[in-house]
Formats: sequence, C-alpha cells, structure tokens
Amino acid sequence: MKTIGLIGGMSWESSAQYYRIINQEVRERLGGAHSAQSLMFSVDFGEIERLQHEGQWSVLTSRMIEAAQRLERGGADFFLLCTNTMHRMAGEVAASVSIPMLHIADPTAKKIKEAGYSRVGLLGTAFTMEQEFYKGRLVSEYGLDVLVPEPADRAVVHQIIYQELIAGQVLSASRRKYREIIQRLIEQGAEAIILGCTEIMLLVQPEDSPVPLFDTTTLHAQAAVQQAIAAGTV
Ligand code: GLU
Repeated sequence: MKTIGLIGGMSWESSAQYYRIINQEVRERLGGAHSAQSLMFSVDFGEIERLQHEGQWSVLTSRMIEAAQRLERGGADFFLLCTNTMHRMAGEVAASVSIPMLHIADPTAKKIKEAGYSRVGLLGTAFTMEQEFYKGRLVSEYGLDVLVPEPADRAVVHQIIYQELIAGQVLSASRRKYREIIQRLIEQGAEAIILGCTEIMLLVQPEDSPVPLFDTTTLHAQAAVQQAIAAGTV
C-alpha cells in the first residue's frame, strides 16, 4: 500500500473527515483490520485564513510548498491538498516536490462526467467561486459548464464557511440558506451541485438538494485510497 500524504488543517474539521473517509474506504476495500498508511501535516488555519483575506497568496504558496516538502521528506508516495481554495497554487506546489499531487477537482469532475452531467453549480469560498483557478480547470480539462451563485448568495456561502463551519458550528438556519441557494442554481440550469469546499459536507447532505451533490471531500478521499491500493501495490 502506498503512503498517502495529506496537507490538512484547512480546516481541521474537514481534515478529520478526510482521515475518517480514507480509513473507512480502506476497510471496505481490504476488510479486516486494514487501515490506510498516511501522513498528515496540519497547519494553523488562523494564520492561513488571515493571509487569504489579506490576499497574501505568495506567502500562502510558500506555506503550502513547505508542507508538501515535509510530506515528501516524511515518506509520502503522493499527496493531497485537503482544501479546494488552496488549489489556487496547485501548480507551484505540485512542481516543488517529486511526488505526485492528486488534484481535488479531478476525481469530482470525472464522477460528474461519468454520471452524464455537463452543467453544474459550484459552492465554495468566494476565492473558489470567483477566481479562475478552479472553475477554469473544470471548463478547460473537462468541458463542464460551471454556474456560481449571484454575488449576495456567494457572500452568504462564504460567510457560513468561515464563520461557522470551520469553527465546527453546523446550524439549521444556515442549512436552509444553502438549500435556497442550491434551488436558485437549479433554476439557472444546474443539473448537479459541486460541494467545492471541504467543510460544506458537514452542513449539506443529499436530502438537502433535489439534484445530485458531488462532495469534493468524499470524492478526493476515495480517489486517494484508489491510488494508494492500485493493483499490485498492496
Ligand atoms: N476547506 C475550504 C475549501 O475547501 C476552505 C478553507 C480554506 O480556505 O482552505 O476551500
């Protein structure tokens, strides 16, 4: 089995989900007492979140590169950046180490295509919904048509992530707001919704949406297990 490297702590609420899903998936696939071989480098999100909101992306890139290099030195065979937002610097981070990075958008986009959808709504941080690094990959690599909420809805989605979910607060009033925003994306033509922030799955479940949800946390974690136990490596 290969050793999975995880850059976590963004936030730890979602990293805990990665750890759980990865180990559950190994148990399901290999049975018995099997669990994943993994290494996590977990950051202090207080600092990361401040730098994000100050727009200090080059400092953040250095932090992510340092984390990837620590995982490489620790013996990870490949690694995951356990946040959608920080894929803004995915190219630089991947290029800074010799072990491969499993990009979070790839398993998600592949599942969407397999399911036959082409028009998707994207929920995530404002950085993910508004900048090109994420939507651009879905469009250019996978030919998806990506819809994002209107500005006022984007602000609500962003605020709930940073003020509640990363602090472990899961509130039904916020779930109702997400449901309404999902409904408006469907009215614009979304056939499916990407939960493009790794904490959203704490709040929103399949029953909250009339169309299928593609949760990046689960799909990324499952793809990591697939890569770790690919034929002949167990
Ligand atoms: N976990 C979130 C994401 O997937 C947001 C936290 C962050 O900004 O890294 O985008």
